[in-house]
Amino acid sequence: MRHIVIATGNPDKFREIKAILSDLPIDFLSLKDITLPEETGKTLEENAIQKAEAGANLSSKISIADDTGLEVDALNGSPGVYSARFAGPSGNYEANRKKLLELLDSRPFEQRKAIFRCVVAIVEISGELTRVFEGKVEGYITQEERGTYGFGYDSIFFVPELGKTFAEITPCLKNKISHRTLALLKLKEYLKNKYLNV
Ligand code: IMP
Repeated sequence: MRHIVIATGNPDKFREIKAILSDLPIDFLSLKDITLPEETGKTLEENAIQKAEAGANLSSKISIADDTGLEVDALNGSPGVYSARFAGPSGNYEANRKKLLELLDSRPFEQRKAIFRCVVAIVEISGELTRVFEGKVEGYITQEERGTYGFGYDSIFFVPELGKTFAEITPCLKNKISHRTLALLKLKEYLKNKYLNV
């Protein structure tokens, strides 16, 4: 069985990535006891590559990582690459959501457009082979929190096609349609073609 490291310290992301890729005959390993470098990149792509590189260096195995940003039209694409530390360095989910709701307070629905963008990087041999895959979902930021599933910004990200936020749908449904899923489906095709001969 082939092993691939998922280079994230975020247990919510690890759970989703593992579930989305669970039909592959690959054993996914976590790096949760190892501290990844500070996210210093100016783009999601740079950060995803930095994390996947660190995972590959620490484990000497193929390593994947994602970096995700919520881009709000009315805020010129912010918080974007700074989504994790939007309300401060602690990366507190609730404080981030509160800050975003406050900033959009007076805006009507049509001015609350947002995109969830996810970039997944795979590093196969450190410094040599790196590939990135992107997925995005368009939606709107709600006026208040809705739903109890999910994590991060899920309870304020409304998807018009569903009529629900990501926190009002089950993890199973989120993992069929999310920005992370769309990026990981591209990675899955790549892995199948390159390593699994299917
Ligand atoms: P990063 O990719 O770890 O930098 O995460 C960026 C920020 O977006 C963090 O605050 C995460 O909690 C949040 N985030 C990442 N993925 C998701 C998601 O799928 N749903 C909701 N929030 C997310």
